[in-house]
Amino acid sequence: MGFLNHISSHFHKDEPAYMPEEERAGRIDDGALAILRALEEEGKEAYVVGGCVRDLFMGRIPNDWDITTSARPSETVAVARSHGWKAVDGGGRRFGTVIIVLSGNTFEVTTFRKEFYGADSHRPEQVTFSDTLEEDVSRRDFTVNAMALDRRGNLYDYFHGLDDLKHKKLRTVGKASERFQEDALRLFRACRFLGQLDFMADKSLVEGMKEAYPRVAGLSLERVREEIDKLIVAPHAARGFDLMVCMGLNETSCRLKVNGTYKEIPILPELSHLVGLPQQKEFHKFDGWYHTLAVLEASKPLLINRWAALLHDVGKGMPGVRAIRNGKYTDYGHDIKGAEMAEAILKRWERPARFTNHVVWLVANHMKFHYFANFEEANGVKWVRTLAREKAFPTSKELAEAFVEMTDLGNADIIGCGRPLSATEGHSAFGKYMEDLALSIPVSSHELHYDKEVPKALGSHVSDGMANLLLRVQNGELENTPEALYNAAVRYVRRRS
Ligand code: ATP
Ligand code: MG
Repeated sequence: MGFLNHISSHFHKDEPAYMPEEERAGRIDDGALAILRALEEEGKEAYVVGGCVRDLFMGRIPNDWDITTSARPSETVAVARSHGWKAVDGGGRRFGTVIIVLSGNTFEVTTFRKEFYGADSHRPEQVTFSDTLEEDVSRRDFTVNAMALDRRGNLYDYFHGLDDLKHKKLRTVGKASERFQEDALRLFRACRFLGQLDFMADKSLVEGMKEAYPRVAGLSLERVREEIDKLIVAPHAARGFDLMVCMGLNETSCRLKVNGTYKEIPILPELSHLVGLPQQKEFHKFDGWYHTLAVLEASKPLLINRWAALLHDVGKGMPGVRAIRNGKYTDYGHDIKGAEMAEAILKRWERPARFTNHVVWLVANHMKFHYFANFEEANGVKWVRTLAREKAFPTSKELAEAFVEMTDLGNADIIGCGRPLSATEGHSAFGKYMEDLALSIPVSSHELHYDKEVPKALGSHVSDGMANLLLRVQNGELENTPEALYNAAVRYVRRRS
């Protein structure tokens, strides 16, 4: 094995990517180091590799420490067990991977591999063991994900990943169009890494994308969804979505198996029309798409908040919504149209009902929230009472959560119009007021603070009686306390009989 350590010498000491060998070694996880040492003692090569090496150089905390080795799985298992560590061969589905558990942490130790791609859009047709680290890293997706470190901190960087890392550049290992065609999921992984790492896509990567689009059709919805969900909560999510939409990757379709047959699932074609969509200048600094991206990044990095941000204005510019009145662009009703579109997207994406309900409600009501937050005469109490009666959410706690999410969306929307953070104070205060109100108004009779005397007093009228008490508490005619509810129950029965 040769030391390919030349890249590190390019760096001057004060540059962030510079790091002496001892310091690199010092940053490797102790468990991973113990495994590297144990394998080396048996005469095997062993390295930490992939995302953890990238993260180590970027000063990020790695999710996991993956190890690659010249040892075959059975040898790895034997080495681990001789040290008293639990080790399991991943078997067929995880070809070449041994899971080692060491002081409560799990490490994946994978034998050097070569992959051959075929008909499947994601999974290799054939995987074989290899004898060299170089072959193993050649199969990896991006240069910054293809670096390896040995336990002394020597870097093996066959594709100049550290150089790309320093320039915040995402580049494929080898020819982009070929690498994307082998495994089309890498298209979405590219978008995801731009967002997570705050990188720019290299020109060669961008140019290699489109040729692989037909292969997206063979990806499963689950895999694509997982990548897009990782992207959407990333600190620089806008970077990834911008590449996806500007390159038309959002207009491709993946697939979902339903009762044994495949159904085509369009990814996010609904976003395309926002690109370049003009907006009224006095409210908006950006076009529809850049506004959406600004709102996305200004919102909290939580799935519901971010999905609501991404979709909050999808209804803008749609036929029947976009109009020009007195020479100005308007989009009246874009909230309702957007909510319909969001619902269609999230159902097609098979999101859980609770998730869809929140996002759709946020999109549908974001303009109303702005209106209420801006106009003192708008009656927030009435709005919450209506939501409770209509059971917009199953519990008052969930309704309160929805207002917390709404406050975040409203604030992000203000920031996304190019206005300062200080302009969000009114919305934050109003949102808090609505959250507290929501908590104080019951949505279901389970949230009435009654004791066992109440159903006793209602007797045979228990179901209609409870509904009546709930409605009156929701309307503010009755206090939600055991005494008030008991007295009301007694009066209710007296009126009935
Ligand atoms: P994360 O921080 O999400 O764990 P990661 O870079 O570790 O990011 P993983 O999906 O955990 O990404 O994969 C680990 C490593 O395996 C990658 O860094 C890369 O070297 C390689 N890899 C994973 N998926 C692919 C793929 N689809 N094609 C090529 N190489 C891949
Ligand atoms: Mg990982």
